[in-house]
Amino acid sequence: MLSDSATSSVTSLEHLDMKPVIVVHGGAGNISDKRVPGCRAGVKRAALKGYDILKGGGSALDAVEEAVVVMEDDPHFNAGCGSVLNEKGEIEMDAIIMDGKDLGSGAVSAVRCIANPIKLARLVMEKTDHVCLTDRGASLFAKAQGVEEVPEESLVSEMARERWEKNLKPGSDPVASQIQDRGTVGAVAIDNSGNVACATSTGGMTNKMVGRVGDTPCIGSGGYADNFVGACSTTGHGEKIMTVTLARIILYHMEQGMSPEEASDTALTYMKTRVRGLGGVIVVNNSGEWTATFSTNQMSWAAVKDDVLEFGVFRGENETVNIDHPLASQ
Ligand code: ASP
Repeated sequence: MLSDSATSSVTSLEHLDMKPVIVVHGGAGNISDKRVPGCRAGVKRAALKGYDILKGGGSALDAVEEAVVVMEDDPHFNAGCGSVLNEKGEIEMDAIIMDGKDLGSGAVSAVRCIANPIKLARLVMEKTDHVCLTDRGASLFAKAQGVEEVPEESLVSEMARERWEKNLKPGSDPVASQIQDRGTVGAVAIDNSGNVACATSTGGMTNKMVGRVGDTPCIGSGGYADNFVGACSTTGHGEKIMTVTLARIILYHMEQGMSPEEASDTALTYMKTRVRGLGGVIVVNNSGEWTATFSTNQMSWAAVKDDVLEFGVFRGENETVNIDHPLASQ
């Protein structure tokens, strides 16, 4: 338990003149040509939505939640509507949200038939004494909170069903198929009070076993946020990310003095060499420096700082446009 003086030192971290920053990702992997334009437009829309909230004086927590909702509602991504299917052809989703102010966090795993798992994760954080609810318990809690249950079919995209069917064929490799085309979503932000937050949401790995829970809802793996350091959201092969606690080691490297980019490169290289895992991360530190870094071939991402939108999908791609420019919202 924090003493009063320790609590006030947390609050004193807040500086009111902080420039807001938001960074989002739409999943790391090999994004098929068919999906590239939709992913690029989707991450831009999500980043602009989050930035709008921050510019209006909103919190980092609200900004990351709403940015993720935009991508959960977009069938180009593997989260909410568009989630991949498990071995039985069902959708089981994972999500996490974390508030860097007090390390408050909420998560859901293997949750079914709701449109926005990230909203349910926030309710877990704010309305329960727990950090993560799973499966049936998460559904009961959703019902008790008045979260609308939606038919599973309304979340299933044509692409997710096609991939699932393809992966059922003898000799197919679902893990390789996922690396081919991922789409987990995430956001990190810092608001003008200096608070950071992260949010990550996913349908997981295609054709996964029923009940498989990945890295996303695991604190320190799918995301982490601490006002003393910064915030991180991850994407990639969940079983590998969990074994290295990717988000937390990135913050550890930043605590040791590395920039977000150096910390992300170091941790992703470690994951690649130590457990042969590939992935991507978005990170913001508590000074507003940010990065979108990946060891896969591609990751869709977008960021806004100082009214400038940056975005990309391919390695080395970094387009820059003012948020008022017509290209920003296309
Ligand atoms: N990390 C997610 C999972 O393993 C998948 C992804 O990011 O593509 O559930």
